Amino acid sequence: MVAFGALTAGVGTAAGSSSPTIVPLAAGTDLAAALAASTSSHSGAVETRHVVEPGLEAAKLMRSEGLVARQNVDLAIRHAADGYAVRQAELKRKQDAENAEKARVQEAENAEKARAQEAEEAEKARVAAEEAARRPQVVKPAEGTFTSGFGARWGTTHFGADIANAIGTPIVSAMDGVVLEAGPASGFGLWVRVQHSDGTVTVYGHMNEILVAAGQQVAAGQQIATIGNRGQSTGPHLHFEVWLDGSQKIDPVGWLAERGISL
Ligand SMILES: [Zn+2]
Repeated sequence: MVAFGALTAGVGTAAGSSSPTIVPLAAGTDLAAALAASTSSHSGAVETRHVVEPGLEAAKLMRSEGLVARQNVDLAIRHAADGYAVRQAELKRKQDAENAEKARVQEAENAEKARAQEAEEAEKARVAAEEAARRPQVVKPAEGTFTSGFGARWGTTHFGADIANAIGTPIVSAMDGVVLEAGPASGFGLWVRVQHSDGTVTVYGHMNEILVAAGQQVAAGQQIATIGNRGQSTGPHLHFEVWLDGSQKIDPVGWLAERGISL
């Protein structure tokens, strides 16, 4: 403003002849008044007003550029925010997909484990059933030579069947049962009596060694003693008796034959 005032005054002074209109530099009069005074005698000087405009334009420009910049910043922030949201959504989608896949794999593994366990249990049950089926209900009490049967012998009754074999030959329980008695017995030397679930009692005599005790649970085919020559015996053999209902002595050969065993 000061420069403008000086310039106007200068022009006015140079052009003026009779009545120079000198505007004081620091007169305090307003710009419009100065311009009006200058214009009254020198119309060309008005053109100088144009000099002011680039400043105004620059200010406008700066302001508009400021607005544009502000807009751009807003836009950039919005884009950044949008981008962030998109990335977050994408991350969440990926995480959800990963979790879903993990859950699916875990479920499949659990199902597979359950199937394997079921199959294992079924196989165990099958094997157990097979073993139970394979185990004979009645077995031959000892291997050897059948030497004497049930009936009258030497003026008395022989109540058993004799199977001869070497001393120490295994004697096994003919059926599942419980040992009633195991120890010395008159005439038998040593005996073992086993009671079975149907009430039958099987008796084993003359054994060399007894391997079970009274009260013991035994299975068909389980060794209970060894063949010996104790008591009233004429050589190493097993004397085997069958007592129906624990008292009625019957022919062991027939009893065994009915159960598929031949001596
Ligand atoms: Zn005998």
